[in-house]
Amino acid sequence: MLRQSRRISYQRTAGEIGALLLEASLIKTMHPLFNQKLRRSRQLCAWQLPASGPPVPELVFSTEINFSSSPRLYGLYSSRRSALLALQAIADLHKLCYGVLGREKLASGRGCFRAMLQQCAGACCGKESRESHDARLLAALEEVQVQCWPYPGAIGLVETFEDTQQVHVIHQWCYLGSANTVEAASKLQCTAPGFDADGYKILCKPLMTGRQEVILL
Ligand SMILES: [Zn+2]
Repeated sequence: MLRQSRRISYQRTAGEIGALLLEASLIKTMHPLFNQKLRRSRQLCAWQLPASGPPVPELVFSTEINFSSSPRLYGLYSSRRSALLALQAIADLHKLCYGVLGREKLASGRGCFRAMLQQCAGACCGKESRESHDARLLAALEEVQVQCWPYPGAIGLVETFEDTQQVHVIHQWCYLGSANTVEAASKLQCTAPGFDADGYKILCKPLMTGRQEVILL
């Protein structure tokens, strides 16, 4: 990579969040050879629980529903396969039942194969109550819950370092650009082009902990 380099340029940001947002957006627009991981803004999927009834997770896709406003979404996965593996890992860790989770068929009156091996706590065969199984499922999923966009519209996230101030404009977890003043930032607003997983990963913690200065635009 160094041998192929001809020129190095840099852009100064007012803080780490601005640097991460800029990096993710440059990777999306410039498609650099060595930044494979952040490069594609591909389709995402997540597990969603129904609004009522037994909590059986259903696989949903970002092309079908708006991930920034849909409730009861858990995990962000780049493929159906990785979503299935993640749910399986949660089930294995907490001894949840694949059958009760809707991932395999249960023969009536019999426990699942994993219950025989003590890998399922037995919600399928009456060894554990359905309520207890579902409560443990909900507690495990809570750790990977996708947060809905918590503001009525776009916001400006303010970062300041020495004499540099930047207002990063964000709507529905999607980064729309930065400006040096709030007035200029409010002109940057446009419709958010849908849920952005990179934006979500960078911004979720700083915004949900409330430690950053935020202006409603
Ligand atoms: Zn079972």
